[in-house]
Amino acid sequence: MEKKINCLDLKGQHQQIKKEVFEAFEKVYEKTAFSGGPFVEEFEKAFSTFCNVKHTIGVSNGTTALHLAMLALGIGAGDEVIIPANTFIATAWGVSHAGATPVYVDCTADTWEIDITKIEEKITPKTKAIIGVHLYGQPFDIDAVAAICKKHNLKFIEDAAQAQGAYYKNKPIGSFGEMACFSFYPGKNLGACGEAGGITTNSDEYTKHLHSLRNHGSMVRYYHDEIGYNYRMGGLEAASLSIKLKYLNDWNNRRRAIAKRYQSEVKNPKIKMQAQPTWADSVYHLFVVTTDNKEKFVKHLDSKNINAAYHYPVPCHLQKAYAHLGYKKGDFPNSEYLAENCVSLPMYAELTDAEVSHVIEALNSY
Ligand SMILES: *Cc1c(COP(=O)(O)O)cnc(C)c1O
Repeated sequence: MEKKINCLDLKGQHQQIKKEVFEAFEKVYEKTAFSGGPFVEEFEKAFSTFCNVKHTIGVSNGTTALHLAMLALGIGAGDEVIIPANTFIATAWGVSHAGATPVYVDCTADTWEIDITKIEEKITPKTKAIIGVHLYGQPFDIDAVAAICKKHNLKFIEDAAQAQGAYYKNKPIGSFGEMACFSFYPGKNLGACGEAGGITTNSDEYTKHLHSLRNHGSMVRYYHDEIGYNYRMGGLEAASLSIKLKYLNDWNNRRRAIAKRYQSEVKNPKIKMQAQPTWADSVYHLFVVTTDNKEKFVKHLDSKNINAAYHYPVPCHLQKAYAHLGYKKGDFPNSEYLAENCVSLPMYAELTDAEVSHVIEALNSY
């Protein structure tokens, strides 16, 4: 391959739909519906149908979605929320922004998702909720986490930022907890032309509160019932999302096909992949592998014109921002192993079959 193959390349997808998106932008422009408004409402309806859930509340990004979910659940200072140590840091931001404390749990050594057997030992009288993360696009064991929440009277939230369109036991994710939080960051499987996020829920009550919270704590203009936020979704972002949503299942299916090739054609015992339980139908936001010598592996990939990326090189509990919580190296060995050894392979719908074959050959020749 002459051309470098990157982990992600957004250009191909956006060229395909450019005309359609630009026409939609023109409509938003003519209506000057730039913040909230009809284009956001249209996307919210379509996304609710897609997730088989009653409500979607469009917001400014995935981090603000998590923040507002915490606030709508009444979580704040003095409360603890259990989250996996192996996730993108924004899961923890949602908790911290609400004034609560993230309590980390290690991932398993094979699925790399929250270790169900290690959750209950972290529950204290201050624990209010568990946020599970559908990491790399693969659903975690929702029923198991939901059962722990029920037993201990905790709220259950899905961080679905990486998993738009994934299925758990044949049901779309986003409809299982009190709320699910989505990111529509451009690099996600469903990404806006801009920043955006959303919360899905079946609760009318949470929806009403979230509508107020995202809009300055206001239901009636210039009357503010509580301290609110400006976390609205933009009209241009919403218009681009409505168009992309129509293609999402096709794009996800293409990712599934690429993943299937990686899983079946890579025959190299030095390379380990995420274990996939039968109930999880992943959308492969990322395709992460581990090797025991990352430097050497990445050098090899580079020599074959493949750019690797790392998701994520430092687990949440060892980030400087959380040094005050007192975690140390060795607390979560599986998350730490993954952070040290993870490499993300090229994964996006527009990869050609030849490019996928090239990556597979490179992996098999390592
Ligand atoms: C991307 C992401 C977020 C945050 O979304 P933004 O839109 O970037 O704020 C939250 N959680 C996870 C797991 C993510 O991957």
